[in-house]
Amino acid sequence: MRRISILGATGSVGANGVDLIRRAGGASAYRVTALTGGRNIARLAEMARELRAEVAVTAHDELLDELRQALAGSGVEAAAGSNALAEAAARPADWTLSAIVGAAGLAPGLAAMAQGGVLALANKESLVCAGALLRGARQAGGATILPVDSEHSAIFQALGQDDLDSVKDVTITASGGAFRDWPLERLAAATVAEASTHPNWAMGQRITIDSASMFNKAMEVIEAKEFFSLSSDRIKVLVHPESIIHAMVTHHDGGTIAHLGAPDMRHAIGYALNWPVRAPLPVAALDLAAIGSLTFRAPDERRWPALRLAREVMAAGGAAGAVFNAAKEQALDDFIASRIRFTDMAPRVEAVLSALAAEPGFGRDPDSLDAVMDWDALARRKAAA
Ligand code: NAD
Ligand code: MG
Repeated sequence: MRRISILGATGSVGANGVDLIRRAGGASAYRVTALTGGRNIARLAEMARELRAEVAVTAHDELLDELRQALAGSGVEAAAGSNALAEAAARPADWTLSAIVGAAGLAPGLAAMAQGGVLALANKESLVCAGALLRGARQAGGATILPVDSEHSAIFQALGQDDLDSVKDVTITASGGAFRDWPLERLAAATVAEASTHPNWAMGQRITIDSASMFNKAMEVIEAKEFFSLSSDRIKVLVHPESIIHAMVTHHDGGTIAHLGAPDMRHAIGYALNWPVRAPLPVAALDLAAIGSLTFRAPDERRWPALRLAREVMAAGGAAGAVFNAAKEQALDDFIASRIRFTDMAPRVEAVLSALAAEPGFGRDPDSLDAVMDWDALARRKAAA
């Protein structure tokens, strides 16, 4: 039986992963090693009981007693805190879904990679803040990383066996998020509730707001660079309001191969779960006649300055990715707490990047988890100030 772990099981991606495991037979089809979550103890305990996990971990130390009580008599071990998270991720598993949100997913993801197996990576922040580290871990531990972000899964699938040398460029699509059609002058007054709705995808709140600001797409461009070792000029972004085409690969011979599908994360998660086999998944097939037309437009960098910042981060290299991600996470916290406006986020991140570019060592890739987390902490302090 394959052993699997789900980091961030109680979140939007994690719960979709649990749903696929359940439909495939649950505890009678897989041996579930670790499930982790945050404050939703009832949900975590319910998942752990149902899938007969070996261990359930909450990120919060103070919730350990509550988790223990919720798991009493189940035979599932309870644990709490960031060390327990990394320890659980390091337990042998053949397949681990990395679905924690934010840089908090980096340490457990690296721990999972160190024991080999497949890391199905939804946590794009890991690649943005520590691309070089993940590449090193992939080489050292013999782990395989598979993309779970829908656009990157789409590139991976469209590429198939083709050589990267034959590829002219790749295009990832963006719905444009909540404010795609808002007049620019209205954006400064956008509320958290307005930014937390998405036209096509049901996702966690943070990535939904990042879709409205396109910080999500900015992160994904960097993710594509790190994942596929492509230079920045070979990665394009196209606004596609219907979210039916997820990515396209254009070859030097003039052919473009697109990946289409309903906006349902269970496709990308399930593809990574069953890879290299394509197993049936509970994802609705496309009815293109009903959809009628697919539309496209070029992204407007005045509306979405995050896209320009992503290019600058890739050009700078070194610690820029870690600083960019952490400053963005802090700016997002501040927007969610109504301390800053929607349109303050990008200038805030840009200011942190230019301030920290003068720090010694900024131009070098951080070579350890501690080095990444030092840049992360510095950037958060700067952004908060
Ligand atoms: P979410 O907020 O719904 O869930 C996040 C999970 O991480 C929860 O289980 C939560 O308890 C846990 N978590 C939060 N903070 C934590 C911390 N500090 N330490 C440990 N655990 C913590 O988020 P989501 O939308 O499922 O996104 C998860 C990841 O997948 C993100 O990196 C996101 O960018 C990526 N992603 C999500 C989608 C989507 O459809 N939601 C699509 C593509 C990529
Ligand atoms: Mg995506």
